[in-house]
Order: sequence, then structure tokens, then C-alpha cells
Amino acid sequence: MAITPLMPVYPRCDVRPVRGEGVYLISDDGRRFLDFAAGIAVNALGHSHPHLIEAIQEQTETLMHVSNLYGSPQGEKLAQRLVDNTFADTVFFTNSGTEAVECAIKTARRYHFANGHPERHDLITFSSAFHGRTMGAISATNQAKMREGFEPLAPGFKYAEFNDLDGALALIDDNTAGFLVEPIQGEGGIRPATDEFLQGLRKACDEHGLLLVLDEVQAGYGRTGKFFAHELYGITPDIMAVAKGIGGGFPLGACLATEEAAKGMVFGTHGSTYGGNPLAMAAGQAVLDVIFEPGFLDHVTKMGERLRASLEQLIPNHDELFEGVRGKGLMQGLKLKHPSRDFVAHLRDHHGLLTVAAGDNIVRLLPPLIIEEKHIAEAMEKLSEGARTYVVPSDD
Ligand SMILES: *Cc1c(COP(=O)(O)O)cnc(C)c1O
Repeated sequence: MAITPLMPVYPRCDVRPVRGEGVYLISDDGRRFLDFAAGIAVNALGHSHPHLIEAIQEQTETLMHVSNLYGSPQGEKLAQRLVDNTFADTVFFTNSGTEAVECAIKTARRYHFANGHPERHDLITFSSAFHGRTMGAISATNQAKMREGFEPLAPGFKYAEFNDLDGALALIDDNTAGFLVEPIQGEGGIRPATDEFLQGLRKACDEHGLLLVLDEVQAGYGRTGKFFAHELYGITPDIMAVAKGIGGGFPLGACLATEEAAKGMVFGTHGSTYGGNPLAMAAGQAVLDVIFEPGFLDHVTKMGERLRASLEQLIPNHDELFEGVRGKGLMQGLKLKHPSRDFVAHLRDHHGLLTVAAGDNIVRLLPPLIIEEKHIAEAMEKLSEGARTYVVPSDD
């Protein structure tokens, strides 16, 4: 038998984490890593945050799961808190980002169905987008590496260039339901939408009766210094997919919508066995307790500015390797002049710094939102040292 017990779909590296402490991860061979990957923007509170641990422990001893056949005081409480602090009027809880996206796609289609326009089923999505790995989510991206061999995909998606407003508007026709877009593309290479682009999509939705569906699975939940990234653009969506940071490491996602946009989501139209169970809700509450502490988001903004300024200072010292930096808040992408995957491995294996590779030669820096200046200084030392000792592979 050659196949591994874990289905071999990931090129796993040989760091095998067994413990986490704040901004650090410890592997089974005792190595200690500065974690600027944060489980791909998931561990918003870092590792082993005492408030999150306590909330989960307490809920585990009380009630873990009952299914959605029963009333949910825990779910109502967290949904209310999200409604109180966002554009949304209603929330569906999921267990992952891709499920939140699925719910968002279904909600958008049902809206037009409920309005007597079932033919308005197409979502316009964008180049280099990433929305997850379910059939709907891979149908919503035009990235060949995620789609190949999985055809036939779900119909009802059209693809425009990211940040090309005119190109997106040109695709609108009688079958258009709306746009599905990340305000800051993550996997695609930390590409922030321009103000004109996102505001222009909002305006087009208002003019044509379309829905703006935002995928804030990676950019949301405090990562940019705002609760959600769209706040930086002065717009609100009609529907939004959320996950990653929302549970601080506990599997949780959510689809948020306005009352109008959710008008088609009536009894029986959607569901999830686990979705929003008491244990997940306790984790979600604990994360919000911390994110809504006075000054927390300002701290993220400040650390984001510090990280950005430090990277900008570092780049000219290694301009044979580094090309530039882009991103917002604590979602920064360091662009290399070579493919980034090998440099990410070099930083990890030789300098104890964890980062994440992304498209377009980007090294993603996604630290826990609780980082302090000293962690940024440590990361810059490791990056600088890493750049100094790095030998670009000859086939790059
Ligand atoms: C990670 C991600 C997803 C998918 O989330 P999963 O929890 O892996 O299903 C969807 N959209 C964006 C923007 C993401 O970054």
C-alpha cells in the first residue's frame, strides 16, 4: 500500500507542531517557530489564548451539540452580536469558509428566485479568486489548478479581471445575480481591491438590482484593523461569507445577509448538522469578547502600520530578492522577484519564521492579531537574515 493514511492532497513540510504558545509554535522535535502564518489567518488570538480555552472548556462540560432541531440560545446570542456590529440582519453558521461561500451563493440565487427572476442566476467572479474547495466554490474561480479533473462544474459563474471595473460591468446581462468578490484577495496574492473597483461594483448592484456578495473569509474579523475589510472602502455588501478568524482555531464560519438579500432563505431551503452548535458558539463568543475589547482593533491597525513600515524599510536592503509589499493591516504580502514557495521553506527551516506562500510570488505575513512590536522586530530580523542567507534555486 503506497498511499498514506492521510489522503496525500497536501505537500506537507516536515515541521510537526505539537504545542502553541501565543505567537510561537513548538514542533515535535522541540524547535520553536515565530508564527506569522497563524494557521492561515485563523489563530487571530494566537495559540492557547486563556479566554478562548476557558470558554471552550466550560462549554464542553455543559453542552457540545444538539443539532438544529432545537432552539439555540447560544446561536441566537452570537448571531445577535454579529447583527449588532455589521450591515447584516441575519446569520447562518457553518463549519468552514467554503460552506459560508456556498450559503452565500445559494442566498443570492434564492433572492432572485423569490423576486420572480430565477433566470438571474449568474455570479460574476474574478481572476485569481479563491473561495474554497467545494464544487460551488471551485466553480466560482477560474483557477485551472483547482478545477482540473473535477468537471463538470456548477454553471452560473462568469469571470472578470480583478480590479477591472469596466470588464466586470461589461459582463452584466439578464442572467446576472450579482458579484462575488474578496475585498483583499488572499490565496491569489494579497491583492487589495481598489476603492474605485469595490465602490463601482456596489454602485452597479444598486443600479441594476444585483447583489454584492463579499468573501471576507480571510480579510475579515479584525485582520485589517476594521472588524471587516469592506469598512475600509466605505461600502457594505448584501451578503458576506466569513470564517477563518471567527473561531480563533475552532472550525466555524458564517454567512451574513441583509433581511432583503435573505428573503428567499425560508424554512427548509438550507441546513447543516453541526452548524452553529453550542461548542462552536462558545468559541465564537470568546473571540468576539477579545476583538471588541476597547482598543483591540486600534492595536491591529497600529501593528499593521508598524509591520508595513518595517517591510518597506527592509526591501531596499535586499532588492535582489524583494520587489515590494502590498496589503492592509496585518494582511501583508511581500512580493519576491522569484517564486515564493522556496523562500517560505527557507525562512521556516533555517530561521524559525512561519509564513505562507501565495500566488504571484507573494510571501504572506498573517500574524495573530495579538502580536506586539517585539514580535515584528523579531520577524524582521529573521526575514533579513533569511534574505541574506538565501540562495535562489537555479531553476527559478
Ligand atoms: C480560506 C478561504 C476560503 C475557504 O475556507 P475553508 O475554511 O478552507 O473552507 C474561502 N475564501 C477565502 C477568501 C479564503 O481565504
